Amino acid sequence: MKRIVITALCLAGFLVGVWYFVYGRSAAPAAKPAHAQLRVVTTNSILEDLVRNVAQDRVDLHSIVQRGVDPHEYEPRPTDIAAATEADVLFHNGLNLETGGNGWFKKLVATAGKQFNEEVFAASDGVKPMTLTTNAQQVDPHAWLDLANGMQYVRTITAVLSQKDPANASFYRENATQYLAKLAALHRRAQAQFQAIPAKQRVLVTSEGAFKYFAAAYQLTLAYIWEINTEAQGTPEQMQRVIATIRRANVQHLFVEASVSPKSMNKVAQETGLSIHATVFTDSLAKRGSPGDTYYEMMAWNLEHIQAGLAG
Ligand SMILES: [Zn+2]
Repeated sequence: MKRIVITALCLAGFLVGVWYFVYGRSAAPAAKPAHAQLRVVTTNSILEDLVRNVAQDRVDLHSIVQRGVDPHEYEPRPTDIAAATEADVLFHNGLNLETGGNGWFKKLVATAGKQFNEEVFAASDGVKPMTLTTNAQQVDPHAWLDLANGMQYVRTITAVLSQKDPANASFYRENATQYLAKLAALHRRAQAQFQAIPAKQRVLVTSEGAFKYFAAAYQLTLAYIWEINTEAQGTPEQMQRVIATIRRANVQHLFVEASVSPKSMNKVAQETGLSIHATVFTDSLAKRGSPGDTYYEMMAWNLEHIQAGLAG
């Protein structure tokens, strides 16, 4: 008799355990504690900084591609996969930046079980895309290098965060208003300064043709070794073409990007006898604590050094 009672009690205990495991646990995530912060993931440091300016310390933020690393092609680390799985919101650039090469971001979104336009948003929403010169079917992702587009990214990020986290919406909008005013002032100043340089001197030479939106905004002509980082970089044909352009346009200064290997541009410098005027930022912010470690500082750095190079 005693043994039957013990067995029955054990069985009852086991069933309660099972019930708790199945219903208790699965119900738990729905009841998120009120103080929990929105968990946000960005694909790169530029988007990370834009979110930080809007949300400050009111979101839990993870950024995937490390500073100084090319975001076109990337292999997510286990920590990236964990953060993406846990995320309430994921921002990617869109415009083919993270999907143009090995398509790493699409795979990550599928692995994390997230949906585009439910949890996953393109920060570039609302920007007018430009296409590649060598392939009109493909859009150029580098829209943020025009400050007017960067401002559109901020508006999109603010709208998504406000919708996902209504309790902090007015805080986000206030921060965005202040930040947008700062970016707009830099944009206007840059437009005026480039206008002061003679048009035939306004030729910008870089490794990747990342400055298409920048060149359109500030009325420059562009020359580059390869058009986009996902293609072959520094082939003999590409080298000959850019060197011919440099000689024809009587270019005086070369630029190299912080997130590509300087090897090809060094070779161009050698062949043309020109010096590399400055390192500029395109697809990544500088390491924290160095010049160019925020979007504003990166753009200010690029504008200042490119102006000085073209004017001199
Ligand atoms: Zn790029």
